[in-house]
Amino acid sequence: MFTKLLLATHNTNKVNELKSMLSSYKIEIISASELNLPDIEETGTTFAENAILKAEALSDLSGLACLADDSGLCVDALDGRPGVYTARYAPNRDFDKGMDKLLQELKDKPLSERKAHFSCVLALKTPSKHCQTFEGRVDGTISLSKHGNEGFGFDPVFIPQGYSQTFAEMSKEQKANLSHRGKALKQFIKEVFETV
Ligand code: IMP
Repeated sequence: MFTKLLLATHNTNKVNELKSMLSSYKIEIISASELNLPDIEETGTTFAENAILKAEALSDLSGLACLADDSGLCVDALDGRPGVYTARYAPNRDFDKGMDKLLQELKDKPLSERKAHFSCVLALKTPSKHCQTFEGRVDGTISLSKHGNEGFGFDPVFIPQGYSQTFAEMSKEQKANLSHRGKALKQFIKEVFETV
């Protein structure tokens, strides 16, 4: 078992979510930014490929156990776009503009035709083991307009199935319980901390 875990992301929102979800476990968490590690280019065509390449590259560079997250929003009416390219879909990575672009693309669609899901693949690479992946998905609907100020990225336009608020209107605990990242992390926790 390792006592230090490097998070292979410079996205402070993802770092904060992962740190908060792991706060009750005895493990020191550091981010790629804290160690001045480079941003690894996402050249893969799937969430898993990108997560694995980030985890392997930063574990090799740092000599630490490394957990990488690749995630995105897949919209049924857009044939699964933006998917693995979600970060690049937002003009200049401005997610407010990204949400406007998405709402514009879906402007003629009623709620019944706005089904979407978030996907997340977490990849864990330790210096002594092969990479392992953990996947999570949350289904929902793209709202008609933006609501809420919590969370990050596309949270203000995503209503998880069975709820009427967007992720951005929920507490971080509530989102963590439902989200793609929360679900993937539960599997990671089970594998790493709860196996005897
Ligand atoms: P990447 O994994 O760095 O390629 O970025 C994925 C992008 O998907 C993020 O920059 C966000 O825009 C979006 N995304 C991923 N997870 C979430 C989430 O939990 N809420 C809102 N947007 C998300």
